[in-house]
Formats: sequence, structure tokens, C-alpha cells
Amino acid sequence: MPEMTDVVLKRPLLIAIDGPAAAGKGTLAQGLATRLQLPYLDTGLLYRAIGKLMQIAGLDLDDAQAATAVAEKLTPADLQRADLRGREAGELASRVAVHSGVRAALIAFQRDFAHGPHGAVLDGRDIGTVICPDADVKLYVTASAEVRARRRTDELLAKGRSVDYQAILSEVKARDARDSGRVEAPLRPADDATVIDTSALGPAEVLMTALSIVENWQKRH
Ligand code: C5P
Repeated sequence: MPEMTDVVLKRPLLIAIDGPAAAGKGTLAQGLATRLQLPYLDTGLLYRAIGKLMQIAGLDLDDAQAATAVAEKLTPADLQRADLRGREAGELASRVAVHSGVRAALIAFQRDFAHGPHGAVLDGRDIGTVICPDADVKLYVTASAEVRARRRTDELLAKGRSVDYQAILSEVKARDARDSGRVEAPLRPADDATVIDTSALGPAEVLMTALSIVENWQKRH
């Protein structure tokens, strides 16, 4: 694995990672942030927190005004909730994420985080395209729907949960369709993103690939 010890890191360094659900973005983003000593923001948590807060308040997730009001009051403490990680919160998130008011309310927080003194790693769906079109390195991490559903099924089985692969595959495809088909900031690779297909790669290989991309970028700048 490249050690990056011989490369003096250009600071600040901003890395944008996008891709569909369960492609390995989070694992990669965390790995890069640790390796390169950069702050990391998982932007999915913002949308998950809004969805969860709306559900708890009994609000209609399709109500754009209500969702925007929740987004405008979101605080960093809301991102620390323990109930944001699961599949259900992911579904809630992708429903509130279609509202333009929600997305607009979250832009400043994400850009401030991205443009801190050291730079940052952000992962999500629209980081390279909308939030940080100026990112130094843009990665688009993807894998086939079948591979992503298999990984998610295996993760849940390992936790002792009873899950059905076909049901998870349907969920993955429905989330892809909603995230890619929406009008506002749809999921797509930025024109200048490097695509990493993780279908046949393990987490260590994905990290190694991304580190090589960062290292090459560093050598050119
Ligand atoms: O990445 P994660 O699975 O936590 O994202 C949950 C949902 O939040 C996504 O399916 C997507 O609808 C939404 N999202 C988004 N833009 C981002 C991050 C997440 O629309 N930057």
C-alpha cells in the first residue's frame, strides 16, 4: 500500500466522495481521513437526522415546507443521535433529500466544514457536483446493485438479524432510483471524478486505489 510518507501533502486538501448506497464510500472516506489526517463529514447523517426528527415529530416526509423548517434548525448535536445508522433512517433520509429547501439549508454547513484550515473528506451524493465542485480530488465509488445488496445482507446476517437478500436488493434499487432520478442534485459522478468500481475489491484495495489517486494528484500540484 502506498505510504504517502515521501509525499509532502498539499494543505488544505479537499476530497469529495460520492456514490450510491452501500458501495463502500463511508469505509473509504474514513480510511482516507485517518490516513491523511483530515476531518471527515458523513453528509448522509444530515439527511438521516432530518428524516428521523420528522418521523419522531409525526410530520409528513413529503411536506417540503415542514422538512425545510427541520433542516434549518438542525444542530451538530442532532448528528450524534444513536438511531441514524440503520436502513430505516436511510430510507427516511432519501425521502427528505428530494426537497430543494432541505438541500439549500444544508449547503453552508457542508461548505464551511469542507473549507476548514486542513481541508476535509466529505462523502455523500452531490459533494463533487454541487457542494464542493472545487474539490481537489473527486472520487465516485460504485458497485453493482447485486454486490451492494449482498454486502448489506451479509452485514445484517453477521449481526444476527434475519434478512432476505431479494428484499434488500429491491431496497437498494429503489434508493438508487430515487437518488439518481430526483430533480435536485441527483446522484451522478462529477465530470472530473475518478470512478472506483468496488464490485471486485475489498476495503483495503479500495483504500489503496484511492491513495494512489491522491498521491498522483499531489505529484501534479
Ligand atoms: O449516505 P447515506 O446512505 O447515509 O445517505 C442516506 C440518504 O441521504 C441517501 O440515500 C440520499 O438520499 C441522501 N443524501 C443526499 N445527499 C448527500 C448525502 C445523502 O441526498 N450528500
